[in-house]
Amino acid sequence: MFLPQVIKSARVMKKSAAYSTPGAGTIVMATVKGDVHDIGKDIVGAVLACHGFKIIDLGVMVPCEKILQEAKQNNADMIGLSGLITPSLDEMVHVASELQRQGFSLPLLIGGATTSPAHTAVKIEPVYKNGLVIHGQDASGCAAVCRSLMDPELKQDLINKVRKEFEELRQEHLSRRSSQSFVPIKKAREKAFMTDWEQAGITKPSFLGIKVFQNFDLTLIRKRIDWSPFFITWELKGKFPQILKDPVLNAEASRVYHDANALLDEIINKKLLKANAVVGFFPANSVGDDIELYSDDDRQNVAAIFYNLRQQIIVWEDHPLLSHADYVAPRSSGVKDYIGAFAVSTGIGLDELVKNFKADHDDYKCIMAKAVADRLAEAFAELMHEKVRKELWGYAPQEDLTDEQIILGHYRGIRPAPGYPAYPDHTEKATLFKILDATKNTGINLTETFAMFPTAAVSGLYFAHPQSKYFAINTIDQDQITDYAKRKKISVQEAEKWLGSNLRY
Ligand code: SAH
Repeated sequence: MFLPQVIKSARVMKKSAAYSTPGAGTIVMATVKGDVHDIGKDIVGAVLACHGFKIIDLGVMVPCEKILQEAKQNNADMIGLSGLITPSLDEMVHVASELQRQGFSLPLLIGGATTSPAHTAVKIEPVYKNGLVIHGQDASGCAAVCRSLMDPELKQDLINKVRKEFEELRQEHLSRRSSQSFVPIKKAREKAFMTDWEQAGITKPSFLGIKVFQNFDLTLIRKRIDWSPFFITWELKGKFPQILKDPVLNAEASRVYHDANALLDEIINKKLLKANAVVGFFPANSVGDDIELYSDDDRQNVAAIFYNLRQQIIVWEDHPLLSHADYVAPRSSGVKDYIGAFAVSTGIGLDELVKNFKADHDDYKCIMAKAVADRLAEAFAELMHEKVRKELWGYAPQEDLTDEQIILGHYRGIRPAPGYPAYPDHTEKATLFKILDATKNTGINLTETFAMFPTAAVSGLYFAHPQSKYFAINTIDQDQITDYAKRKKISVQEAEKWLGSNLRY
C-alpha cells in the first residue's frame, strides 16, 4: 500500500472506539525543544496508529523533562524524537543523556530532516547505552522497526544489527575525518573566489531599505510551486510531471496531486492562508569574511554585519575555498555593492485550517494542508526572487526563463538561507529578522533555537554576483571557530554549540 492510502486508513482506525490494539505498544513522540518540524512526525504517527500502536504526540518545541515525564506516566514502550534544524541535534543528544542518567532503558527513535544515521551513531548512541537508539529513515520503514521492538526475539536481532551498523558508521566517520585535508583559515582566505569587480555587473537596487508585501495573491504563488518535493513528502519518489505518468506510481501520484489542488482551490477561494513577505536591499561591502551593511549609500555607518564561514577542506587543488563574502565587493575596493534580504510566509491561517481536520481525526488532510502550505512558502520565495531579479533589484530585467529553468535555478544570483550548507549558523536569522523587521512585517516568529514559526516560511539573503552559487561549508577547524567567535563577539563555546555539526574536532 502507498503511504497516502495508509494514512487515509488511519482515520478509520482512529474513529473506531478501540483504535489501539491492546499490547501493540505505546509511543511517546515529540519534536524537540526549539524546533517546530511536524509533517514527518505526523506521518510516522499516523502510520504507527494504523499498526495498532497507541501514539501520544506531545507536539512541537517539547522540553526534555516533559518527554521523560510523559514516557514514565504512560508507561511508554518507546520514545520518538523529531527535528528539522541542526540545533535540534544537540537537544536530541541531551534527551538521550538524560534518559541514561535517569535510568530509562526504553528504545529511542530518531527522525527528521536534520538527523542522520551517522550523527545518531557518533553522537546519540554513545550517550544512551542502557537503551537502544535507532535512526528511522522513512515513515513506512518505521512500523516494521517498532513492531520488532515489541517482540523479544526480533528485538534482539534488531539490537545486534543496529549496534553493528552504528559501529561501522563510527569507524567510517573517523576515517573520513582523518583523510580530509584542512587548510588553516588564513591560508583558506588566500584561496578565496576572485572576481574583477568592474566586470561584476553591479546594479543599484530600485530602492534601499525594506518593502512589505502583505496578502500577496496566492494564485500567482501557486503557479511557481515546485511539485517534486511534494511527492517526496508522500514517499512517492519521482520527478513532476513525469510521475503522473509513471507506470507504477501514476494512479497514487495523480490522486494526491488532485487532492492538493482541490485544497489549494479551497484555500484560495476562502482566503484560508495569508501570504506575507518583506524584501530589503542594503548598501554592503565585504570586510574579510564579514559582510557589512550600511545605513545609507555614504557607507559611513555600519547598520548590521552578516558573519560568514569559509570552506577549509581542499577537495580539488586550484578550486577556490568559498565564503559568501566573496560575492560582495570588498570595502577596500571602493566599489559600491549591495545585498538583499527576504522573509516570506504562507503559514498564517494554517493552525486554524488544520484544527478542524485534527478534530475529525483526518491525518491525511492535516498532512496535506501542511505539505501544501510548505510548497506555497517555497513557491513564494521563488516568485519573490524572480521579482527581485527583474524589477525590485532589477539586475536582470530581460530574464526570460521557462518554469523548469527557474526551478533548476538557472538564473543569475542565489538566495541562501541561514541553517543551510553555505550558511550553517541559524543565529544569523536574528540579524536578518532585525533588518527586515520580519516578525512584524510577515508574522514569522523565531524560536529559541531560531526555527521559524509558523513553519511555512523561508528567509535568506540575496546575492546578485553572476558567478554566485550554492555551496557547502562542510567541516571547519578550530582556528576558524576561534576567529568567528571573536568577530561575532560570542564565546568559543557558544560558536561551537551552534556549529556543532560543522566541527572537525
Ligand atoms: N524548489 C525547491 C527549492 C529547494 S532549495 C523547493 O520548492 O523546495 C530551497 C532553498 O534552500 C533555496 O532557495 C535556498 O534558499 C536554500 N539553499 C539551498 N541550498 C543551499 C546552500 N547550499 N546554502 C544555503 N542555502 C541553500
